[in-house]
Amino acid sequence: MMTTQPQYTYGSANEQDTSRLAEALAPMMTPGTVLALDGDLGAGKTTFSQALARALGVADVVNSPTFTIIKEYSGESLPFYHMDVYRITEEEADELGLDEYFYGDGVTVVEWASRIPDLLPEERLTIYIETTGLQERRFLLTPEGPVYRHWCETLKQNGVFI
Ligand code: ADP
Ligand code: MG
Repeated sequence: MMTTQPQYTYGSANEQDTSRLAEALAPMMTPGTVLALDGDLGAGKTTFSQALARALGVADVVNSPTFTIIKEYSGESLPFYHMDVYRITEEEADELGLDEYFYGDGVTVVEWASRIPDLLPEERLTIYIETTGLQERRFLLTPEGPVYRHWCETLKQNGVFI
Protein backbone atom coordinates (compact mmCIF):
# COMPACT_ATOMS: atom_id res chain seq x y z
CA MET A 1 0.00 0.00 0.00
CA MET A 2 1.29 3.44 -0.85
CA THR A 3 0.87 6.06 1.78
CA THR A 4 1.46 9.72 1.14
CA GLN A 5 3.94 11.14 3.62
CA PRO A 6 3.27 14.55 5.03
CA GLN A 7 5.48 17.22 3.51
CA TYR A 8 7.10 20.06 5.34
CA THR A 9 8.06 23.32 3.67
CA TYR A 10 10.99 25.53 4.56
CA GLY A 11 11.27 28.92 2.94
CA SER A 12 14.78 30.22 2.29
CA ALA A 13 15.25 33.87 1.37
CA ASN A 14 19.02 33.58 0.90
CA GLU A 15 22.02 31.34 1.42
CA GLN A 16 22.13 32.17 5.09
CA ASP A 17 18.60 30.78 5.51
CA THR A 18 19.68 27.65 3.68
CA SER A 19 22.52 27.30 6.19
CA ARG A 20 20.03 27.72 9.02
CA LEU A 21 18.03 24.70 7.86
CA ALA A 22 21.23 22.63 7.72
CA GLU A 23 22.13 23.86 11.21
CA ALA A 24 18.68 22.87 12.53
CA LEU A 25 18.98 19.37 11.07
CA ALA A 26 22.61 18.62 11.94
CA PRO A 27 22.20 18.06 15.72
CA MET A 28 19.61 15.33 15.07
CA MET A 29 21.90 13.33 12.82
CA THR A 30 23.32 9.97 13.83
CA PRO A 31 25.34 7.21 12.14
CA GLY A 32 23.31 6.02 9.14
CA THR A 33 21.47 9.29 8.51
CA VAL A 34 20.60 9.61 4.80
CA LEU A 35 19.44 12.78 3.06
CA ALA A 36 18.19 12.44 -0.53
CA LEU A 37 18.47 15.77 -2.33
CA ASP A 38 16.80 16.73 -5.59
CA GLY A 39 16.04 19.89 -7.52
CA ASP A 40 17.21 21.53 -10.72
CA LEU A 41 20.79 22.51 -11.44
CA GLY A 42 21.58 25.57 -9.36
CA ALA A 43 18.76 24.97 -6.88
CA GLY A 44 21.21 24.72 -4.00
CA LYS A 45 21.87 21.04 -3.35
CA THR A 46 25.62 21.57 -3.08
CA THR A 47 25.22 24.82 -1.16
CA PHE A 48 22.97 23.06 1.37
CA SER A 49 25.42 20.13 1.59
CA GLN A 50 28.31 22.51 2.25
CA ALA A 51 26.33 24.21 5.02
CA LEU A 52 25.53 20.83 6.52
CA ALA A 53 29.19 19.81 6.37
CA ARG A 54 30.11 22.99 8.25
CA ALA A 55 27.38 22.32 10.81
CA LEU A 56 28.81 18.82 11.32
CA GLY A 57 32.22 20.33 11.92
CA VAL A 58 33.86 19.34 8.64
CA ALA A 59 36.98 21.50 8.40
CA ASP A 60 37.91 20.61 4.80
CA VAL A 61 36.60 22.45 1.76
CA VAL A 62 33.54 20.62 0.44
CA ASN A 63 33.39 20.77 -3.35
CA SER A 64 30.64 19.56 -5.65
CA PRO A 65 31.24 15.81 -6.07
CA THR A 66 29.81 15.73 -9.61
CA PHE A 67 33.03 14.33 -11.08
CA THR A 68 34.13 12.21 -8.14
CA ILE A 69 30.65 10.77 -7.36
CA ILE A 70 31.52 10.17 -3.69
CA LYS A 71 33.65 12.22 -1.32
CA GLU A 72 34.34 11.36 2.30
CA TYR A 73 35.03 13.92 5.01
CA SER A 74 35.51 13.72 8.75
CA GLY A 75 33.17 15.81 10.84
CA GLU A 76 33.51 16.63 14.50
CA SER A 77 31.74 13.48 15.67
CA LEU A 78 30.49 11.85 12.46
CA PRO A 79 31.95 11.16 9.02
CA PHE A 80 30.22 13.03 6.20
CA TYR A 81 29.69 11.28 2.86
CA HIS A 82 28.77 13.53 -0.04
CA MET A 83 27.51 11.94 -3.26
CA ASP A 84 26.39 13.28 -6.61
CA VAL A 85 24.92 10.64 -8.90
CA TYR A 86 23.99 12.98 -11.77
CA ARG A 87 26.56 11.51 -14.16
CA ILE A 88 26.03 7.82 -13.56
CA THR A 89 23.29 5.29 -14.21
CA GLU A 90 21.59 3.41 -11.42
CA GLU A 91 23.41 0.28 -12.59
CA GLU A 92 26.78 2.02 -12.28
CA ALA A 93 25.80 3.40 -8.89
CA ASP A 94 24.90 -0.13 -7.78
CA GLU A 95 28.49 -1.22 -8.44
CA LEU A 96 29.81 1.42 -6.05
CA GLY A 97 28.37 -0.41 -3.04
CA LEU A 98 26.49 2.58 -1.69
CA ASP A 99 25.04 0.56 1.20
CA GLU A 100 28.46 0.73 2.87
CA TYR A 101 27.83 4.46 3.18
CA PHE A 102 24.06 4.48 3.77
CA TYR A 103 24.27 1.94 6.59
CA GLY A 104 27.72 3.01 7.74
CA ASP A 105 28.90 5.16 10.59
CA GLY A 106 28.33 8.57 9.06
CA VAL A 107 25.88 11.00 7.50
CA THR A 108 25.25 10.54 3.76
CA VAL A 109 23.91 13.24 1.47
CA VAL A 110 23.00 12.25 -2.10
CA GLU A 111 22.56 14.93 -4.77
CA TRP A 112 20.20 13.88 -7.60
CA ALA A 113 18.99 11.01 -5.43
CA SER A 114 15.86 10.44 -7.56
CA ARG A 115 18.15 9.02 -10.27
CA ILE A 116 18.81 5.97 -8.09
CA PRO A 117 15.40 5.21 -6.55
CA ASP A 118 16.00 1.48 -6.16
CA LEU A 119 19.31 1.93 -4.36
CA LEU A 120 18.21 4.39 -1.68
CA PRO A 121 17.45 3.09 1.80
CA GLU A 122 13.74 3.01 2.59
CA GLU A 123 14.26 5.25 5.60
CA ARG A 124 15.59 8.63 4.56
CA LEU A 125 14.81 12.32 4.49
CA THR A 126 14.02 13.46 0.96
CA ILE A 127 14.56 17.16 0.32
CA TYR A 128 13.39 18.71 -2.93
CA ILE A 129 14.69 22.23 -3.52
CA GLU A 130 12.69 24.57 -5.75
CA THR A 131 14.08 27.81 -7.14
CA THR A 132 11.42 30.42 -6.51
CA GLY A 133 13.49 33.56 -7.10
CA LEU A 134 17.02 34.82 -7.57
CA GLN A 135 17.88 33.94 -3.98
CA GLU A 136 14.60 32.47 -2.80
CA ARG A 137 14.32 28.71 -2.47
CA ARG A 138 11.60 26.39 -1.23
CA PHE A 139 12.74 23.23 0.54
CA LEU A 140 10.14 20.45 0.52
CA LEU A 141 10.98 17.82 3.11
CA THR A 142 9.47 14.37 2.91
CA PRO A 143 10.40 12.09 5.81
CA GLU A 144 10.41 8.35 5.14
CA GLY A 145 10.37 6.33 8.35
CA PRO A 146 9.66 7.15 11.99
CA VAL A 147 13.03 8.71 12.78
CA TYR A 148 12.80 11.30 10.03
CA ARG A 149 9.12 11.94 10.75
CA HIS A 150 10.11 12.70 14.31
CA TRP A 151 12.83 15.09 13.11
CA CYS A 152 10.31 16.99 11.00
CA GLU A 153 7.73 17.14 13.77
CA THR A 154 10.41 18.49 16.13
CA LEU A 155 11.41 21.21 13.68
CA LYS A 156 7.75 22.02 13.07
CA GLN A 157 7.20 22.46 16.80
CA ASN A 158 10.23 24.74 16.88
CA GLY A 159 8.63 26.91 14.21
CA VAL A 160 11.23 26.15 11.57
CA PHE A 161 8.70 25.45 8.80
CA ILE A 162 6.31 27.82 7.08
P1 ADP B 1 22.98 22.47 -7.17
O1 ADP B 1 23.98 21.67 -6.38
O2 ADP B 1 21.57 22.20 -6.79
O3 ADP B 1 23.19 22.39 -8.65
P2 ADP B 1 24.46 24.77 -6.18
O4 ADP B 1 24.40 24.71 -4.69
O5 ADP B 1 25.70 24.33 -6.85
O6 ADP B 1 23.17 24.00 -6.78
O7 ADP B 1 24.16 26.25 -6.66
C1 ADP B 1 23.21 27.06 -6.04
C2 ADP B 1 23.53 28.50 -6.42
O8 ADP B 1 22.48 29.33 -5.99
C3 ADP B 1 24.79 28.97 -5.74
O9 ADP B 1 25.48 29.82 -6.64
C4 ADP B 1 24.26 29.76 -4.55
O10 ADP B 1 25.14 30.78 -4.16
C5 ADP B 1 22.99 30.33 -5.12
N1 ADP B 1 21.94 30.65 -4.13
C6 ADP B 1 21.28 31.83 -4.12
N2 ADP B 1 20.36 31.83 -3.15
C7 ADP B 1 20.43 30.62 -2.54
C8 ADP B 1 19.71 30.05 -1.46
N3 ADP B 1 18.71 30.69 -0.84
N4 ADP B 1 20.04 28.79 -1.07
C9 ADP B 1 21.02 28.13 -1.73
N5 ADP B 1 21.73 28.61 -2.74
C10 ADP B 1 21.45 29.87 -3.17
MG1 MG C 1 25.40 20.18 -6.97
